[in-house]
Amino acid sequence: MSEDRLRIAIQKSGRLSDGSLDLLKKCGLTISRGRDKLYGRVQEMPIDVLLLRDDDIPEFVADDACDIGVVGQNVFNEDGLADVHESPAEEVMSLGFAQCRLMLAAPKDWDFDGASMLEGKRIATSYPGLTKKWLESQGVKARVVMMKGSVEVAPRLKIADAVCDIVSTGATLDANGLKPVATVFDSQALLIKNPKPFSPAKQEIYNALMKRVRGVMSSRDAKYIMMNAPRDAIAAITEYLPGAEAPTVLELAGSPGKVAIHAVCRESVFWDTLEALKKLGASAILVLPIEKMMA
Ligand code: ATP
Ligand code: ZN
Repeated sequence: MSEDRLRIAIQKSGRLSDGSLDLLKKCGLTISRGRDKLYGRVQEMPIDVLLLRDDDIPEFVADDACDIGVVGQNVFNEDGLADVHESPAEEVMSLGFAQCRLMLAAPKDWDFDGASMLEGKRIATSYPGLTKKWLESQGVKARVVMMKGSVEVAPRLKIADAVCDIVSTGATLDANGLKPVATVFDSQALLIKNPKPFSPAKQEIYNALMKRVRGVMSSRDAKYIMMNAPRDAIAAITEYLPGAEAPTVLELAGSPGKVAIHAVCRESVFWDTLEALKKLGASAILVLPIEKMMA
């Protein structure tokens, strides 16, 4: 293993894997490996990829085994609350995928009217740290029962009265006679970093990669928008464009009262934006995807 290769930890297989691999791909990196292997080598930059269980990633990144990693904010914060690392990994940035919620769920027949209903109850969860912190913030004293998996069956087995679990569609809860009643934690994929300074060579690789990651993040929702508009509507239209600065205004040959407006919108452009632009006098509106962007 070379000292001067940056080591990235990502989840081997699970809900973070596709998003993590996709991010690396959008950064222009190809990884040579079989999907089942634990290790991959990036061809374009001196980077190695370690494929791990997500729960191991905060520790490996805190621990010098890896330099950076991609993990759920939920797992990272839970790990932080367990207080096991002398110097825990640092948060670099949220990555916008693997969005999910840690939710408190109760039996369907509970007439839930606030956290105080949980006083003295038992709550099963795989996230005892986040759950206890939330209960504290609500001023409620309840018992938290740690379960590694199948949390949703706990009430049926009389192991607990309620659960605190990751919810996406709610179908699993529903099938177990439970309903979500409160959001405990909002999560998404997070980029984390070893807290110690890198060697100059590693720092250079890290900086180059981060430049690309930031480029991918900022072009994710960005669109290039073009339209024709009356000259006197330029100000109103510019104000309406989501997340756009200083649009380009071009003459339209043969139409002195009209101009072409081009702009980069950094936020999503929806149909109602286009309808509003039309009302302001815009016509021939085109919205184009942006593949790459670098400040
Ligand atoms: P591993 O085998 O790596 O330990 P796991 O079973 O613990 O995997 P996954 O179910 O793949 O983990 O979830 C990984 C992370 O993805 C979660 O910690 C959470 O941040 C996020 N996640 C979980 N459920 C969802 C969901 N339904 N939608 C989007 N993201 C989710
Ligand atoms: Zn896991």
